[in-house]
Amino acid sequence: LATPTPAVEKPGILGRLMGRSAEPKRALDDEMLEQLEELLIASDMGVDIALRVTANMAEGRYGKLLSATEIKSLLASEITRVMEPVARPLPIYPKTPQVVLVVGVNGSGKTTTIGKLSSQFRAAGKKVVIAAGDTFRAAAVEQLQVWGDRAGVPVLTAPEGSDPAALAYDAMVKAEADGADLLMIDTAGRLQNRADLMEELAKIVRVIRKKDPDAPHNTLLVLDATTGQNALRQVELFGQMADVSGLVMTKLDGTAKGGVLVALADKFGLPIHAIGVGEQIDDLQPFDPEEFADALVG
Ligand code: GDP
Repeated sequence: LATPTPAVEKPGILGRLMGRSAEPKRALDDEMLEQLEELLIASDMGVDIALRVTANMAEGRYGKLLSATEIKSLLASEITRVMEPVARPLPIYPKTPQVVLVVGVNGSGKTTTIGKLSSQFRAAGKKVVIAAGDTFRAAAVEQLQVWGDRAGVPVLTAPEGSDPAALAYDAMVKAEADGADLLMIDTAGRLQNRADLMEELAKIVRVIRKKDPDAPHNTLLVLDATTGQNALRQVELFGQMADVSGLVMTKLDGTAKGGVLVALADKFGLPIHAIGVGEQIDDLQPFDPEEFADALVG
């Protein structure tokens, strides 16, 4: 088994709080609470939740002398408590093919995530089909084909500029005919033209529901964790365009802004199905709240 990659780069919050201080303990006083708040906010956690986390931490402990280890574990357990309810793998739908619509802005890691997920499902013995629904970007289709090859999964494509909803419908027919367990539908991520994108996503949903009124069974929003607070805005935007059922957070390997996951969990409560921790096919992990909290606290 691969060694889990720490979800956030060092030095973490605690390293910065305690510095190289020779003091074995520090009082949990206003100064420390303020410093903690600032560090949490700097990790992109957002002000509200940062204040709540530190307040909970101080409850019944104000003025106490605490070691670095004690502060770390208190802070980590507060963060874990916020994150535990959202740590849920992608639910498996009892009927096949399970249709997973994947949305997100260009560059967020949709293609890569579809490749990684397909590979995982395949390794679990599932038959997967991918539909390259971003028909307006030839490069996106090519890239998805590369990932499909890597994962050993067929990628259905349509001519450049053709209707993604028609492709999605054809993919439903093919997935069903092939006895596929899972159909993953990639979509465009052109936020510059929001009205068009909204109509495009709505049409895909409308058309695939002609084959299965319950489809899509999951709508995954892929978010780039390095964009920090911007991720919150993307949840709002895509929430208006699609019935987002869960999140995949990418690029947690290269960011000190991992605190945004806490802000997201607090604000939206959407499940985090997986985290991306690198560019390779195996770099997708289940979201582990304790490991995440430990890495964030550092
Ligand atoms: P899309 O436009 O949303 O389909 O995004 P891509 O899947 O093409 O990803 C955009 C870039 O982000 C590529 O260079 C990927 O290699 C990179 N990427 C995606 N996921 C991760 C991740 O978890 N970690 C890192 N470090 N890079 C990632």
